[in-house]
Order: sequence, then C-alpha cells, then structure tokens
Amino acid sequence: MKKIRNLVLFLLLLLSFYRCEENLKNDEPVQNISQFTVEQAQAWFGSEWAATISLKSGSTESPKIGIKPDWCDGFTSHNSKFDVVEVGLLVQGNFGFADQTSSKDWKMTKNPKMITSLTRMVFMKDKKNGRIDQFLMTIVGNKEYHDKKIGQLSDNSYFTREKHFSGYIFFHDLTGNFINGWNYEKGKIVRKCSQNNGNNLPIVLKKADCIAVTVTLYNQFCTDWYHNGQYNYTNCEDRVAEYEYYYLYCSYEPSGGGSGGGYDGEYYPPTTPDPITLNTQLNTLFADGTTLTDAEKEKLNNAYNEMINKCIYAYISNQLTNNNVTLGSISIDPTLPGVACVTSLGNLKFQGVDAITAENLEHEWVHLLQRYVSNIDIFDPSNQGMAEFENFLLTDVIECINLRGDFSIATHSFACYNMRDDDSTIEYQTWLKTLTENGTHYPSAIDIEGFLKFAKIFGEVHSWYNADHGYQFDNTSYQPISISNLFNNARTNCE
Ligand SMILES: [Zn+2]
Repeated sequence: MKKIRNLVLFLLLLLSFYRCEENLKNDEPVQNISQFTVEQAQAWFGSEWAATISLKSGSTESPKIGIKPDWCDGFTSHNSKFDVVEVGLLVQGNFGFADQTSSKDWKMTKNPKMITSLTRMVFMKDKKNGRIDQFLMTIVGNKEYHDKKIGQLSDNSYFTREKHFSGYIFFHDLTGNFINGWNYEKGKIVRKCSQNNGNNLPIVLKKADCIAVTVTLYNQFCTDWYHNGQYNYTNCEDRVAEYEYYYLYCSYEPSGGGSGGGYDGEYYPPTTPDPITLNTQLNTLFADGTTLTDAEKEKLNNAYNEMINKCIYAYISNQLTNNNVTLGSISIDPTLPGVACVTSLGNLKFQGVDAITAENLEHEWVHLLQRYVSNIDIFDPSNQGMAEFENFLLTDVIECINLRGDFSIATHSFACYNMRDDDSTIEYQTWLKTLTENGTHYPSAIDIEGFLKFAKIFGEVHSWYNADHGYQFDNTSYQPISISNLFNNARTNCE
C-alpha cells in the first residue's frame, strides 16, 4: 500500500514539474498541489477558539458542550479535488447520536454502543483555489450495524465508508448548524438529507420516497476533556440529557462524480453568494462607484426599480442615458442637512440607510433632469428655489391624477397645503385640476403666471425651502421646461 502511495506521489511530482514548465511558457500561476498536513491545518485553525458547540436542528438547540480538535489524533487523505485533514475531538464530556431503534435498544439494554457515535473535525482544502472548509463529520451507526459488530465507526473517514457501514453521516458547521447528511446501508448510500426539518415531524412524509429520521443526541457534561469518550472521567453528570432531532431523508440519485455542490457522501460546502452589484443604469450613471455596503446596494437597487416602474421616471432615466450623463459616486453622508442630494460635483448622497427610498430617488432624478437634460444651473441661488418648486409640482400633478382630482381623499402631502390661508390651498388645488383637466390627463402646458405665483407662495409656506435657508422664488425668467417635457411625453406614453 505504501509503495503504491509513493508511486502516486512520484507521479504527482512529475506532473508538477511538467506543469511548472508549461506554466512558465504560458505565464500562468502555478497550481499548488502539495499535500495538506495536520500541522498546516492546526496552524490555519489557530488557537483562538471558544471551544464550545451546540449541535442544532431547527430551533432545537442542546446546551453548549466544550469541544476542541485533538491534533495528536489526525490523518490526511485526498482525492483529485481536495486535500483533507481529519482530527478527533477532545470533548468536555460525551455526546452521541442514535436513531430511534438504537435509542429504544439502549433504553432496555443500556448497551453504550447503541448511543455512541463518532465526530471528527474535518479541514477540506480545495486544490484549485486553496480555500479551506472546516466542518464536523459525525458517523452514526444503526442498531443492526452495532448488533453485528463487524465494523468500527472509526474505520470510516471523509472519503471512505467501511463496507459494512449502515447508518448515517451528519455534517455540521462549526457553530453547530446542520448542513447535510447521508443514509447508508452496507457501505452504500441509500438516501440523502439536504436539510433537517425543524422540530416537528414533517407532513411531506407522505411523499413515498422520503423517510423521517428521529435522532436523539445524548449529552453528558464533565469537567475534564475526553477523547472520543476514552478517558477516565472524574466528575461527570449522568448521561441523561436527551435532545431529539428530526431529519428528512429522501431518495438519492447518484450524481456521477459530483458537480461542485459536493460529491456523493460528502459535505456540501456553502456556496459563496455573488457580490451585490448596482443596477446597470446606476453603475453607468455613477461612474466613480459607490461606498455602499451590500445591504445598502440592495436597498438602492430596490428603490431604483420601484422608481423606474413608474412610467414618468423611467422616461427620466432614459433621457439621462440618451444624453450620456455621467456623474460621480454614491455614498452615505450623515452630515447632510437633508435626506438625500446630488451635489454640484454629481455625487449622490443619502443621509442614512433609511433615506434610500424610491421617493427620495424620484426627487433627485427630477433635479438631474433639470440640470443635465434641460441645462439649468440648479445651484445658482436664483434658480434653486424655483427648481425645488418645479420638482414638487411634478409630484403634486401625479397625485392629482391619481386622485382623479378629488382632493378630499388625499393622503399625499401637497407642496401647497397649509398655505397662508385656506383660500390659497383651494386656489392651488383648483389650478392643479385645471392643469390636469380634472385629474384626467397630464398637463399639455403649464401656464407660467400660475407657476410663478405658486412658487412664491411655496417659498413662503414651506418649512425648509424658504428664504431663511437661502431659497429664492422671484426669478420670473425661470421656465418649468423639465416637467413640461415630462408631461408631454407622459400624455403620449404614460396614460
Ligand atoms: Zn430638491
């Protein structure tokens, strides 16, 4: 056996020389095919580990029991894709899994074998990318296997199952979460378990090709550390703590060699989620990128999608794209005086995560339209206030159409509500109704006299957009061309 292994190593070595030469020619990185040793796994693992674990299933969680790898009890193995280091566990007490039949037998006979399982810590190194997955592998024999006494749990390893092995293999991550499992009969896989089914017996059991496996975890807590139960304990509780877990094992079809998601009989490594990227249009528009986190990016993508689902804002986006507008970056800036803004340098900023909403984007997109499509200098103090009113007028018109002109059912906060007196509010509502033909159409034109008049009133009643904050509303040459164009397009395309 050793000879064969040496031969294999020699061939691998030859192959590596060959590859090096190839790689030098092609200038590609050299693949590391060196064996992964117990020492390397230990170094990688480090010494900072809380060393307690609670194996979980659904919401059932057993009390934490101390475990740590026993580096003196380790061995290595490999296949074409992975180098594996397996080490036994030092446990502060004992734990063992048993299925229902073995559990029943143990209750009658007190034969400790029935509730003895074997758990090892496994380090699996991907030969291609060097990634190391770390997990717990538990080998659980069934009653028949224990009765026959023809095999030993310890003869099973990550890549090999002893030929008489009948029972279960469980994989848990290091925080104790169940990952996947396999059911064996005489060394052959008969079913697989891709997830446990919570704490209740599953209804889907009616599915003929699935079986529920109830597994009991027996915990015994001690002061000293035990190696796979082999140690003279000094101070232990009785082995009474029992925790029931339910697993759903379903029929299994051989995958024929494994397809990335784990091989037959093996651990399913977690798939690393794709990094979140911003919506393409946002990415193109804000060429300098973003400092938003993945969660914030996701929120922004959702807000953006919600915005462009509205015909009128989809048009703004298209206008920006058609004009090849490119801006700066997207970030969160807690020092912003308002909830969101696009700065004069073209940077989109939100005051906080909560400010990433479709409503705030819509407001900023109208400003982008004013600035980059209508070429209005919205940072010029004489335009600033007017541009804000134009922006608010757009949302009021949209709402007036949503209400079909019936302001009595309005929940939206109109720009000119709470004007100086009821008369101006009613006057503004009447003007909106005239513009929208009683809430039936987008305006075909905005009479400039009305626009200037209500802009002035807006500046007098609004709590933020007012003279105190530097906004002016007396620029009589300001034309609401941005929203006029929007409305013209909307009359044709959005009604
Ligand atoms: Zn604004």
